[in-house]
Amino acid sequence: MSRGDLSREANGLEPRLSRASVGRLSLYLRCLESYAREGSATVSSGQLGDVLGVTDAQVRKDLACLGNLGQPGIGYPTAELIAAIRGALGIDRDWAVALVGVGNLARALLRYRGFAQQGFRIVALFDVDPAKVGQRLDGLTISGVDQMPAVIAATGAELGLLTVPMEAAQQVADALVAAGIRGILNFAPAVLRLPSHVSLVSVDLAVQLEQLAFLVQVSGNYSGPEPTTR
Ligand code: NAD
Repeated sequence: MSRGDLSREANGLEPRLSRASVGRLSLYLRCLESYAREGSATVSSGQLGDVLGVTDAQVRKDLACLGNLGQPGIGYPTAELIAAIRGALGIDRDWAVALVGVGNLARALLRYRGFAQQGFRIVALFDVDPAKVGQRLDGLTISGVDQMPAVIAATGAELGLLTVPMEAAQQVADALVAAGIRGILNFAPAVLRLPSHVSLVSVDLAVQLEQLAFLVQVSGNYSGPEPTTR
């Protein structure tokens, strides 16, 4: 299976979803949660497409992998579609997350309450700096990296957040994998090599800014397809 395809065979869904479709499922979910808060019992593919800047045919194609939820002329039942997307994305359960590198970025991430609301609980903190190890932060004690296997086993963390400097990223990722972590969200500007059984998503705001600069630069004299980055 390529890194760009996410297998859903275990859920009885279509065998593969592209990474782009999975990204859109997350965005559909944000929209649907907002419609649900407003009390909308059903939502159409056209409504979702308008918000995301994609065609309603694309929306129907993305959502087809969730089963026959949509009805012509009526739309999708909002609550059922939310549940189906959460199931497909694997977020109909809580995930325990270990964070490595308790610096500026980590402190900002720890202050963000949205992770817990979406079922991502940060259960362990690690750092190499002896001045930080043993400190309490957000109800957790910062552990040394030598304690990683024991703490990860004890907390049941399956996902890792990597907020260490670029030079340390590969070594720390290897240590997380050796300790049993199954997926890493990498914030360091480093290209990581991981075994195939470990999933990797990298976040680089500088890359996003470059894409934004490009979109702004070409707006007005761009004749290609509508950019879908929203
Ligand atoms: P920072 O220096 O404030 O924090 C880094 C922390 O990692 C420190 O506490 C340090 O002791 C710890 N550390 C260093 N080596 C370690 C190791 N081997 N094991 C465990 N901990 C270790 O840095 P920051 O500003 O928080 O940035 C952290 C990372 O995030 C950097 O790689 C930075 O480039 C990146 N960053 C990414 C984005 C993004 O958009 N993805 C934005 C800002 C920063």
